Amino acid sequence: MNTGIVYDPVFLKHEQPGHPETAKRLESILAGLKEKGLLEKVKQIKSRQAETKEITLCHSNDYVEFVKDFCQKGGGYLDPDTYSNKFSFLAAATSVGSAIDLTKSVIIGNLKNGFALLRPPGHHALSNRSMGFCLFGNIAIATKNALTQSGINKVAVVDFDVHHGNGTQALIGDDPNILFISTHQYPFYPGTGGIREIGEGNAEGTVVNIPLPAKVGDVEFQLIFENVIIPSLEKFSPDLILVSAGYDAHWDDPLADLNLSLAGYDWISRKLNQSAEKICSGKIVFFLEGGYNLQVLSSGVANSIRALLGIEDSEDPLGRISHQEPNIERIIKELISIHKL
Ligand SMILES: [Zn+2]
Repeated sequence: MNTGIVYDPVFLKHEQPGHPETAKRLESILAGLKEKGLLEKVKQIKSRQAETKEITLCHSNDYVEFVKDFCQKGGGYLDPDTYSNKFSFLAAATSVGSAIDLTKSVIIGNLKNGFALLRPPGHHALSNRSMGFCLFGNIAIATKNALTQSGINKVAVVDFDVHHGNGTQALIGDDPNILFISTHQYPFYPGTGGIREIGEGNAEGTVVNIPLPAKVGDVEFQLIFENVIIPSLEKFSPDLILVSAGYDAHWDDPLADLNLSLAGYDWISRKLNQSAEKICSGKIVFFLEGGYNLQVLSSGVANSIRALLGIEDSEDPLGRISHQEPNIERIIKELISIHKL
C-alpha cells in the first residue's frame, strides 16, 4: 500500500507579498520532494473543494458565507494576522475537501498513510472567525468527518506546531471520542494551551496541553514523547491518528524560539508513525500547518514523508544548535499526574 499526498495549484494563489505565510513555503516543499525523488514514490490523490455542509461541521454558516463573499470581492485582511485575496476562499475550501478525502482514503485502506500539503493552514481558525493565518480548521473538520466513517470510533490529533492549536482545541476539544495533544512554546502566541486546560465535562482528560519554555529542543522533546505523548496515545487507543505538522519549532525558524533540529523532527515523525503501526494499523495522516524557514520546510516535510514511506534515510543540512536545554522534569511530572499516565 501507498503513502498518499494531496495538493492543489490553487494553494499557491493564496498569497500576500511580504507575509511569512507565503506560497513559497509550499513551492519549496514540492520542489524538494521532486528533487529528492520522493514525488514518484507517493500516490497523489485528487484535490477537491469542500461543500459548505462539510465546512460547517466546525464553522458557522454565517462565517463561511462571509469568507466566501469577502474573497469574491477581492479579499483583504480578515483579522490583523490573516490575509485573503480573491483565491483564498477557494484555496481554504479546497484544503478542507482535500484533507477530508486524503483521510478517508487512509481510513478505507486505499492508502497506508498520508501527508496533506495544505495552504492556508488551519489549527488557529475558530468557529466564527479566522485567526493566525488560518481560515478553516482543516484537521478539525477532517477529524469530525472521520468519526462518521465506519470503523472509526476514536481519533487522536497530535499538534507539534510551535504554536498552541487553539482552534483545533476549540472546535473538537469537547468531544470525548477525540484526544487532542499539543506541544507548544508557552507563554507565546496565541496565549492558550496551559497545562490545566484538559477538556471539560465528559471530555475531561481528552485534551493534553504540553506548554514548553523557550529553548526546549530535541532531548526534551524525546522525553515528552516517551513519557507523555506515546503513553497518552496508547491509553486512549484511537482508530486513527491525525497530525498537525508545523515545522516552526525548529531552532532556525524566524517566528518562534524552540530549538528542535531537523533530526529531532525526524525522530518525532518516526515515533508517531511507529505508534500508529502499534495502535491503529498504521493509519496516520499529517496535515501541513506552520513553518516559516523554507529550507526547514523542504527538508522537514521530506523527512516526514520518508518516515511514512518507511525509508530509513533522513537529512539535516542545518544541524543542531548548541545550547543548554531548560529542565522540564517538573512539567513532565505534572502531566503524568494530571493525566494519570
Ligand atoms: Zn505555528
